[in-house]
Amino acid sequence: MSGDGSRFAVRRLRMVEEQLVHRGFRDDDVLAAMRAVPRHLFVPESALADAYADSPLPIGLGQTISQPYMVALMTSLLEVDARSRVLEVGSGSGYQTAVLAEVVGEVFAVERLAPLAERARATLARLGYDNVHQAIGDGARGWHEQAPFQGILVAAAADGVPPELLAQLADGGRLVMPVGGGRGDQVLTVVERDGDALKERHDTRCRFVPLVRDAGPEERRRAALGGAAEDADAGWTSLGGEDARGDSTYPEEADMKSVDVRVSGRVQGVYYRATARREGALRGLRGWVRNEPDGSVRLHLEGDAGAVDAMLDWCRVGPPAAEVSRLTVEDAPADDTVHGFEVRY
Ligand code: SAH
Repeated sequence: MSGDGSRFAVRRLRMVEEQLVHRGFRDDDVLAAMRAVPRHLFVPESALADAYADSPLPIGLGQTISQPYMVALMTSLLEVDARSRVLEVGSGSGYQTAVLAEVVGEVFAVERLAPLAERARATLARLGYDNVHQAIGDGARGWHEQAPFQGILVAAAADGVPPELLAQLADGGRLVMPVGGGRGDQVLTVVERDGDALKERHDTRCRFVPLVRDAGPEERRRAALGGAAEDADAGWTSLGGEDARGDSTYPEEADMKSVDVRVSGRVQGVYYRATARREGALRGLRGWVRNEPDGSVRLHLEGDAGAVDAMLDWCRVGPPAAEVSRLTVEDAPADDTVHGFEVRY
């Protein structure tokens, strides 16, 4: 596969032998997927040396890419195949998404943190997966328009399985999710639907980041990534236009916010302004972005409060070449002179 140095290929095959086969993991389809997906392309550069280590790794914004064994195990527990449509909640780096995409027919991946979803999208597009559909928002609500799913994989922990997800599980389908209270006190739980009955069983103990429930209007509206991962340059498109419109459970609410933002660090000469303009416009925000003489970037953001918050999440990370060291946000009066989202000089 392009971009896949042989050094990493060797490590990957060793990962599969040592961490999976030697532990008695025998699902051939999943083993093939784990041999195929270049995990090192889904980790930040700072973690590259550990890309094939037997552990989770940080991927930014307080989140982690799951341990390889856990990715393999969860995929296998779904008992899905090339005909299956699978919902993934908490797609993070996109690594689990790629493993699923190798095994199943269609993957519907939801992630609440836009910067992670965008990076995942870029990587998945680069690898040529055309059976992945991504959305940004609260995945605990599922993906109503695309249900039912033969498999639902949740990569974040909660006290119980969200009922919306169970409602979107196809007959005979399986949901796999870490369930439990505090960190480290979670059990990987498998729920199988048999008509109206749900059978639950427990697998191994595990440790996942928490499933965060978002109630804001931005999440209800949900911005989606274009249909397939191959639309590499199409940017974000809004699911709100088409798919969510007929869904009365996602009402629009007017909760507006206006802020001034200053971003410091390595933020000039890294396409911060151009990318911020696109990100702002795609979220339906009004505002502007400009370079300051002291090397920082200033932004003015106005619009739906949830969309502003999502944009602030993006600003904290910025485009791939940026290194944000500090972000300050202040409430600001709305500015009638701004209409779209522009770069100012
Ligand atoms: N399988 C991923 C795991 C990422 S960690 C990987 O290997 O990279 C779990 C992810 O769940 C995080 O990215 C977090 O932002 C996301 N998450 C938490 N709550 C969520 C929710 N309600 N909806 C969608 N994503 C959620």
